[in-house]
Amino acid sequence: MNKPSKVPSSDLAARTIAVAKAVAAKYADDVDRRARFPSETFAALSEARLLSAAVPREFGGQGAGMLELGNQCAALAQGCSSSGMVLAMHHIQVACIARHGAHAPYFQKYLRENLAEKQELIASITSENGTFGDTRSSICAVEVDGDTMQLVKDATTVSYGANADAQLVTCRRAADAANSDQVLVLFPKGSYTLEQTGTWDTLGMRGTCSPGAKFSGHGKPEQIVPGSFADSSAQTMVPYSHILWSALWTGIATDALQRAAACVRGAARRKPGSVPPNAAALARAYAELQTMRHNWQACAMEFDAMTAADDAAAREMLDSMNWALKMNQLKIACSEAAPRLCHRALEIIGILGYKNDTPFSVGRHYRDVLSAALMVSNGRIAGKSASMLLVVKEV
Ligand SMILES: Cc1cc2nc3c(=O)[nH]c(=O)nc-3n(C[C@H](O)[C@H](O)[C@H](O)COP(=O)(O)OP(=O)(O)OC[C@H]3O[C@@H](n4cnc5c(N)ncnc54)[C@H](O)[C@@H]3O)c2cc1C
Repeated sequence: MNKPSKVPSSDLAARTIAVAKAVAAKYADDVDRRARFPSETFAALSEARLLSAAVPREFGGQGAGMLELGNQCAALAQGCSSSGMVLAMHHIQVACIARHGAHAPYFQKYLRENLAEKQELIASITSENGTFGDTRSSICAVEVDGDTMQLVKDATTVSYGANADAQLVTCRRAADAANSDQVLVLFPKGSYTLEQTGTWDTLGMRGTCSPGAKFSGHGKPEQIVPGSFADSSAQTMVPYSHILWSALWTGIATDALQRAAACVRGAARRKPGSVPPNAAALARAYAELQTMRHNWQACAMEFDAMTAADDAAAREMLDSMNWALKMNQLKIACSEAAPRLCHRALEIIGILGYKNDTPFSVGRHYRDVLSAALMVSNGRIAGKSASMLLVVKEV
């Protein structure tokens, strides 16, 4: 497992804030309305070399830790939720490759040339028709025959699949492997086809462009990420997903409350010397926003501290039930807090927040964060936590 760099890339968040304000926020409504990929934002991120934030420094990236990546995703989501989610999903895939494949020549070359130099974007295919949202189970299997390898997968949801330069796909290790005996396989552009099987006309997160698709890829066995997906899921995919998603949901709630705060300040200016009646509701909402932000940041700092230390000890900690519970609790707490805060923002602002065409509109934010509880369903996550809580004595 590759350790993250200890050297902070201090200007990462500042450069992302610049893209969020100048580009992501400008196109967010159009991206939402037309359910289109936020191409301007990703062109700007690529231009600023921000797509390689999670690539270790030894391969030409910024080697950012979890806290920095979280701050980056939160900043971008303040401008455009879908952009924040796409960036988070990309970093999750990069982290799986960097932390589990970086000792293999194929992935070293990919990290350096495709991710750092060319600023390519990776999408993820974990969902599959027939596994019902259980990422730790696959029906499809990679077929290795000598020096060649191929895979076919019927996916329910593939975000920005058509806009990505590569797909990282979960599948069974072999045709005779159990459903939970999975591996991750990387397919760079040119080695696969994606045939769209559904539409993506959703309530929110419309810019993630995530319809179902039939995936068919081929290549060489070296494209299989070393080790098992059981390890890369527990040690990387789950912590990166739950922490970075929580960060970006915090970013969305932050922007909604900033709109509420601007509205309250406007009311205060109109009646100098008085405190508007909805200012107290705003104060209570900010208390919850602070809890939410500190929750993901504490988990991110704990992850960075753990992974900066000895590898074997870090793996053991990341594989523990206590850590798995912490990640599940973070995901459930933040995915439930974000819609609550958007609802509070709407109540504080009133009709100007309900309308879609005012500077105080929060409808898009609200619709976007409603995906948080579904994106690996909270019911499924709570079910897994419930089983662990039967055996873990101290949480
Ligand atoms: C914006 C967005 C982007 C996405 N992008 C991608 C992507 O890029 N790639 C990808 O592969 N997938 C993606 N997904 C899919 C996502 O990660 C989930 O796989 C999918 O949303 C789960 O679908 P589901 O709700 O039908 O599944 P389920 O998890 O089966 O949930 C359905 C219902 O069953 C309940 N349920 C299921 N199991 C249990 C249980 N054990 N205990 C209690 N209740 C249970 C749930 O609570 C829920 O009510 C995306 C989803 C969203 C919303």
